[in-house]
Amino acid sequence: MIPLVDLKAQYNSIKEEVDEVISRVLNNTSFIMGNELEVFEGEFAEYCNTRYAIGVANGSDALILALLACGIGEGDEVITIPNTFIATSEAISHVGARIIFVDVVPDTFNIDVSKIEDKITKNTKAIMPVHLYGQPADMDPLIILAKKYGLKIIEDAAQAHGAEYKGRKAGSIGDVACFSLYPSKNLGAYGDGGIITTSNEEIANKIKFLRNHGRTSEKYLHDMEGYSSRLDNLQAAILSVKLKYLDVWNNKRRENALIYNRLLENLDGILTPYEAEYCSHVYHLYVIQTKYRDDLREYLKSRGIATGIHYPIPLHLQPAYNHLEYKEEDFPVTERVSQEILSLPMYPELGENHIVKIVETIKYFDK
Ligand SMILES: *Cc1c(COP(=O)(O)O)cnc(C)c1O
Repeated sequence: MIPLVDLKAQYNSIKEEVDEVISRVLNNTSFIMGNELEVFEGEFAEYCNTRYAIGVANGSDALILALLACGIGEGDEVITIPNTFIATSEAISHVGARIIFVDVVPDTFNIDVSKIEDKITKNTKAIMPVHLYGQPADMDPLIILAKKYGLKIIEDAAQAHGAEYKGRKAGSIGDVACFSLYPSKNLGAYGDGGIITTSNEEIANKIKFLRNHGRTSEKYLHDMEGYSSRLDNLQAAILSVKLKYLDVWNNKRRENALIYNRLLENLDGILTPYEAEYCSHVYHLYVIQTKYRDDLREYLKSRGIATGIHYPIPLHLQPAYNHLEYKEEDFPVTERVSQEILSLPMYPELGENHIVKIVETIKYFDK
C-alpha cells in the first residue's frame, strides 16, 4: 500500500526529539498559555517574516478570529473561491458576513483576480485568497484592488507553510494570514492547531484578546467577550521541533513533484500541475488532471495506491449553501476541474521508488 500521506514515517524520523519535548511538557504540567507557546509563536513569526504570530485552536478558528479582528461581521461581504475546503467559507458565515464566490484561473486553480472587481459592492470588506495546494495566489494585483477599494486581505495559508510569492513568504503578504496545523498539513501538530500571522499591531492585539475570553494579563479581567481558542503548549513544543525541518521537508516535496512531472510528462491524457513562475510551490498536494479521473482512481485503489480529490463538490453546489442560490455553470472553471483533479500520494518521505511504482501503475491503466 502507498498512502496519500504517511505521518508515521515522519514521526519515526524525529521520534527522539519529539518524545523528549513531550516528556518535558508533561513534567512541567504547564499546558495552556505558557513558555512553549510563546517560543513557537516567536519562531513562526520569524519564519514568516511577520511581526506577530498568534497560536489558536485550529485553522478554522484562525479564519474566524482573523475576520473578527478585521472588524468584519453582520451585513459585510467577503470574497473567496468555491474550490476550497469548507472551513474558508464557513468562517465568513460564522461572523455573520455573506460569502461571495469568485471563480479560479484554470492553471493554478487560485482566485481569478480579473473576476473580482465585478463582485465588489459597498458592503465588501475583505478578500480571502486561498493558497491552494501550497501555491500562493497571484497577490500583487489583489493588493492593488484591495487598496483601491479599501478592502482587507486575509490569506488562507492553511496549505502553504513556507510557500513564497515573489520572494515573500505566504502569510506575510496580506493584512493577516491563517494557517492550519492539522496533522497532515505541511507543518502539522499531533492534534489540532492553528496560527495567525500579521504585522499589524492592532489586529494582533485583538486576536490575542479574542482567543482567550477577551482577557487581559490580569486573570479575571475581561475587556471584551472572546473565545476559548488557544494552541496548547504540548502542540507548540512539538511544532517547534518540526518547524526546524519544514524547509527540508518542503524541498523534499518539491523534489518529489519534479520526479512525478518528469515521469508523467509523456503520458497521454494526464496533465501535471502548473507552477507559476512567481511562486515557490510547497506541494501540500500533488494534483494531476485527467478526463478518466474516477476510473483511474478506482484502478489505483485496486493496485494499493491511495489518492484523493480536493475537492469533489464545489462549495457553491453544496447543500449547505442552497440558500445562497448559486447554480451549476456559475463557476465553470471550478466545476470542470472538480471533475478532473486527482491528488496523488505526496509527502516528504515518499521515495523515488514509490513514485516510479505509482507512475508505472498509471501507465498500465487501460482507459
Ligand atoms: C485545513 C484547512 C483549513 C482548516 O484547518 P483546520 O485546522 O482543519 O481547522 C482551512 N482552509 C484550508 C484551505 C484548509 O486546507
